[in-house]
Amino acid sequence: MRLHEYQGKELLGRHGISLPEARLAYFPDEAWLHSMQIGFPSVLKAQILAGGRGKAGGVRICQNADEVRREAADLFGRSLATKQTATEGITVRKVLVEKAVDIRRELYVSLSLDRELVCPVIVVCPEGGADIESVGIAQPEKIRKIPVNPYTGYSPFHTREISAFLGLDPSRRDKVHHLFETLYRVFMDYDCLLLELNPLAVTVDGDLVPVDVKMDVDDNALFRQRNVARMRDLSEQDMDENEARFYGLNFIKLRGTVGCMVNGAGLAMATMDFVKMAGGDPANFLDVGGVATPETIAHGFRILARQKQIRAIFVNIFGGIVRCDKVAQGIADAARSLEISVPVIIRLSGSNVAEGVGLLKSSGLNISIVSDVQEATRTIAAALAAETEPAGAELPGEEER
Ligand code: GDP
Ligand code: MN
Repeated sequence: MRLHEYQGKELLGRHGISLPEARLAYFPDEAWLHSMQIGFPSVLKAQILAGGRGKAGGVRICQNADEVRREAADLFGRSLATKQTATEGITVRKVLVEKAVDIRRELYVSLSLDRELVCPVIVVCPEGGADIESVGIAQPEKIRKIPVNPYTGYSPFHTREISAFLGLDPSRRDKVHHLFETLYRVFMDYDCLLLELNPLAVTVDGDLVPVDVKMDVDDNALFRQRNVARMRDLSEQDMDENEARFYGLNFIKLRGTVGCMVNGAGLAMATMDFVKMAGGDPANFLDVGGVATPETIAHGFRILARQKQIRAIFVNIFGGIVRCDKVAQGIADAARSLEISVPVIIRLSGSNVAEGVGLLKSSGLNISIVSDVQEATRTIAAALAAETEPAGAELPGEEER
């Protein structure tokens, strides 16, 4: 789970890292008021869950209140497309107003997990700022990767290596140590996948100040990171995916036209392959999990059926812990209350399959029940082929549309 810059900064601030004074604004005049309290120059920073904001016009340094008023009015509601967002961009709904830092030098610092070394690594580069990726390609010697042994933790020798590599003032060694030790502790304590300061500024006064903070917490650790989980910004996430998560379903939208509902991630992956073999593309990944009830199945089916791009729905369930009759019940309940205009293909196998199939057959719903994957792929292919046949007479002509 990615945190906003302001959330990451709040968290670092609580752990004793000094940061510029900042306040969050939800509308333009609020930014204007904040800036007058904070003082000038101040920076307006669009809070969207993507980097590259500076180059896309999402970071604006303002010299006075009038300027803030103008820039804030322009920033709020704007769709910011950076190189890390989709082309349509992300709408700016929150702006951080921050006292501008008098930057002398921009450094790059990040902590992440190295899957090959199997330990946390600190990555530093003396040339931070907007374009760290290109530095890594053009001058890889400018990037230093420092592994930290998780059993012995962060130690003074790490600080010596970092200070020397970044060319930091030796008389400030204690402050550097405190900063990096804290970053390491936050990274570990919050189960981060990434904690990135880009840039970490060396100010004109020689202080080290995080100008930008990106924090990404492992989703699998959120059960024990309740305070972080509460910080999730649902407004930037897909509402169907939010709803599915609420019901305990793993639902992820994809670009294809065949809706899938499956139990178990492995079978879900295999099912997406079957859809491909049928000449289609999956519209989503949906794993209803092992503890699905008729209710959660019905919720999942409803979410699927409302996807506008869907041309067919394929349900592939292997009844183990989940019994096929419960799945069938959920689908029948949902389907009865919906007007489904696309073919629904269902393959059930395993516990209580006969009861499940019987239930669907007697439901009077227009559902193709298939007995194996071969038949499923053939049926999906046929459904997609029928869909792409020339438009019938009931469709409006070109001039009527
Ligand atoms: P990003 O583009 O999304 O990574 O946003 P950043 O917060 O990293 O800001 C981009 C760039 O804007 C930084 O690399 C700085 O050069 C500049 N910038 C941001 N905040 C300040 C500030 O307080 N003072 C100054 N002088 N520059 C800033
Ligand atoms: Mn940045």
